[in-house]
Amino acid sequence: MKVCKFGGSSLANAAQLNKVIDIVFADPARRIVVVSAPGKRHSGDTKVTDLLITLADTALKGENTDRQFGAVVERYAEIAQELHLGDEIIREIEHDLMDRLAQVASLGKAEFMDLMKAAGEDNNAKLVAVAVAARGKKARYASPKDTGMVLMGEFGDAQLDPSSYARLSRAFSNFDGIVIYPGFFGYTKEGKVATFPRGGSDITGSILAAAVCADVYENFTDVDSVYPVDPRIVPDVKEGIPTMTYREMRELAYAGFGVFNDDAVIPAVRARIPINIRNTNHPSEPGTMIQQSRRVVPGTVVGIASADNFCNIVVDKYLMNREIGFGRRLLQVLENEGVAYEHMPSGVDSQCVIIKDQYLPKEKEHRVVQAIKRELNPDNVLVERDITIIMVVGEGMCYTSGMFAKACLALASAGINISMVNQGSSEVSFMLAIRSKDRDMAVQSLYKAFFS
Ligand code: ASP
Repeated sequence: MKVCKFGGSSLANAAQLNKVIDIVFADPARRIVVVSAPGKRHSGDTKVTDLLITLADTALKGENTDRQFGAVVERYAEIAQELHLGDEIIREIEHDLMDRLAQVASLGKAEFMDLMKAAGEDNNAKLVAVAVAARGKKARYASPKDTGMVLMGEFGDAQLDPSSYARLSRAFSNFDGIVIYPGFFGYTKEGKVATFPRGGSDITGSILAAAVCADVYENFTDVDSVYPVDPRIVPDVKEGIPTMTYREMRELAYAGFGVFNDDAVIPAVRARIPINIRNTNHPSEPGTMIQQSRRVVPGTVVGIASADNFCNIVVDKYLMNREIGFGRRLLQVLENEGVAYEHMPSGVDSQCVIIKDQYLPKEKEHRVVQAIKRELNPDNVLVERDITIIMVVGEGMCYTSGMFAKACLALASAGINISMVNQGSSEVSFMLAIRSKDRDMAVQSLYKAFFS
């Protein structure tokens, strides 16, 4: 059995929905279909989830919601009319939205917001089930409540209650036909609607794939595959990545590979379910398969990722290596200020701490530097801003010497200075820190060195 998830752009209009149904019908193993809310039809368009947020905000302000309500219904009506699905489903969606809006006074703000946001996927799943049935196959909508998708944590940022796996597995143990399941939300133990973070339909798909031990989790989106480098930086990248391992995926996602929400894959990865990223618009393309292991060609790299907005605290002190507790006290300063750190590369008499810019605003920087001076009495402390991290990733690097030299040579030839390097013990990646102004040139040079 395959669990497939279709994102908002795959369900933005009737033509797209027909493509989705073609894909589902093309393989009888595609039995569980997770859907997002309808997304953008064109670049200037608004996603249904965003329309719902505006609708909820208007209701919370106590203002008239007719226009915002109409904008949401219109999106579903357009699809239903074009596919000749009849009026009944639209009436049902209208009633559902009215029921939700009526709860504005009785729920807290965050609870109400989640109730409204969840309407996007919930109603879309109902509409898609009607559309699949209209094309002649047995299909039913399944609700997260009835199947036991229990969430916990904060509204808008909820997580799965792990006890849900057993319930979901039972709920899907015996069914026929195709199940259409809404992504993005579940219910708290108290029965309130709660949503995952934005983009959370990917998480729903991953959870269901794990719960039913699917053969594969197919994630249909609008790219042919995952590319080895960001096409905005290297526009002529053509070849996608055919297979990559979970480890490679994790390292690339860390440095901002945008195709997949990193958290979303956790349930599927833990259950060792292969994840296949595919394109709804080119269903014959095999896409990218992400799995536990793959055949590796020594000396190859799978991808190069870059992430901006880091800073680097550099602490120098002569004979630092002999001072017991230096690292602990340095980290204690950060802990006292509630600052999370990313990496801690060190030299003989220097220690760097790489931090995301957002965790070290200017006023905190001042306090941190003062505390470091007080606690550690260093020769020098310096905070460098505008740091970009580049990750070069590939299982194939483990077996080959000279990979790092190749990267350094590529950057040196482009006249780019490397501020810091870090290679974990896994050897599946190495990390370079450079000045953000050099990012594009650095990524282009590395891509040329490893891929052409
Ligand atoms: N519709 C939700 C969003 O726009 C969830 C999703 O599409 O995955 O964030």
